[in-house]
Amino acid sequence: MDAEALLLARRDELLRAIGVSGDELAGIRVARSDGTADDEHDPEGSTLSSDWSRITSLHSTALAGLDEVDRALERLRDGTYGVCVSCGARIPDARLEVRPWADRCVACAV
Ligand SMILES: [Zn+2]
Repeated sequence: MDAEALLLARRDELLRAIGVSGDELAGIRVARSDGTADDEHDPEGSTLSSDWSRITSLHSTALAGLDEVDRALERLRDGTYGVCVSCGARIPDARLEVRPWADRCVACAV
């Protein structure tokens, strides 16, 4: 298992998601502020606000994910990767394969 490759791939994914959702939020902000919508956005105000909350939540989930991935990459550089930050036990490889950014063992994560 190459944790760094997995983390960097995940990081790319998240950066793309953050870029896309950020652009969409900017588009909605423009559509709201001038009272007109460009071709890509529905001019209905109610649609804009439901889009806004959906995309805001996507955006913040992706930002939180990016933070987790960045901290995992830091731990890789420090040599503390794969060690539970809470109890100091080794995090099982099976867990890291599913969540390469995990910073706690199964027992501490619950
Ligand atoms: Zn632990």
